[in-house]
Amino acid sequence: MDLLKDKILKDGIALNSEVLKVDSFINHQVDVNLMKEIGIEFANYFRNKNITKVFTIETSGIAPAVFTSLELNVPLVILKKQNSKILNDNFYTTEVKSFTKNTTYNLTLSKNYIDTNDNILIIDDFLANGEAAKGAIKLIENANAKVAGIGIVIEKAFQPGRNFLEASGYDIYSLARIKSLDNTKINFID
Ligand code: 5GP
Repeated sequence: MDLLKDKILKDGIALNSEVLKVDSFINHQVDVNLMKEIGIEFANYFRNKNITKVFTIETSGIAPAVFTSLELNVPLVILKKQNSKILNDNFYTTEVKSFTKNTTYNLTLSKNYIDTNDNILIIDDFLANGEAAKGAIKLIENANAKVAGIGIVIEKAFQPGRNFLEASGYDIYSLARIKSLDNTKINFID
């Protein structure tokens, strides 16, 4: 998606060879016009897949997921990083390793917001090692619902997330695929 790639080149900051900072338009301040276009792009790709719900992971996946669900006219469910103290039998939960914080957290989903007929599109801001996506998939499959696909705003293709998810048969659509972050330079896969 050229609009997104141009924005990344203009305002993205390669913190090192592993991490891209996009605080000025995705993670802290949000460029809602760009998010609207992102929502349209994801919706067009996944439109004929009979999506019943969009799922995302708080917090940074919410903005692109809102516009995608609006465009597909289906509910949005936000998977929450919750303290185990508030959990009970009404939640599905799984542990996820955080890429940016190097810690683990509980990803949770209330049983009220999923059922076996759901065919779910997962949206997230980044794909790195695929841990967040794996967590979301696990919650959905624990509920015996289906994963229709995974929409990623920025994929770091030099990290192993895509390979793992593709090997498990999931359809991944990334809007910008980064080949490398070298010497603060951002290189895309064409
Ligand atoms: P994964 O679970 O695929 O290893 O990492 C994806 C999650 O980590 C995303 O939800 C995102 O919030 C965060 N993340 C991974 N890599 C980056 C990065 O380079 N920059 C930012 N801002 N977040 C990242």
